[in-house]
Amino acid sequence: MAYAYDDQNIFAKILRGEIPNDTVLETPHSLAFRDIRPQAPVHVLVIPKGPYVSYDHFAQAASDAEILDFTRTVGEVCRMSGVQIDGSGDGFRLISNAGPHGVQEVPHLHVHVLGGRGLGRMLEPAV
Ligand code: AMP
Repeated sequence: MAYAYDDQNIFAKILRGEIPNDTVLETPHSLAFRDIRPQAPVHVLVIPKGPYVSYDHFAQAASDAEILDFTRTVGEVCRMSGVQIDGSGDGFRLISNAGPHGVQEVPHLHVHVLGGRGLGRMLEPAV
């Protein structure tokens, strides 16, 4: 099966500059910006600039340069946000929702960087 990317999704529009965003960090292949409905004191979204729907799509189709850039950008966002665990921060959670079971709202790969408070256990019971 092929991955289908919808270029009218809201993060594609952010990447094209059609709607504003609160940028934290921009690199050649990635963009990090604050979530519009933050769930924690630190809630930053990191997206690749390329047209990838999900983490599995990205891992299969992205170039090594894109994957390296994205991985390092996530780490840099953790450090910039003060949630890194090098002794000076208190930690974080990364979430990447995909598809209906993952309850993905925006069909462009994004990793949520969450932190700044205790986040509780990883999953709520299914509803
Ligand atoms: P999900 O696809 O379920 O992982 O979640 C998508 C996330 O994107 C949600 O946390 C939204 O609050 C966030 N979001 C939606 N539109 C925007 C926007 N224009 N700027 C920043 N964050 C957004």
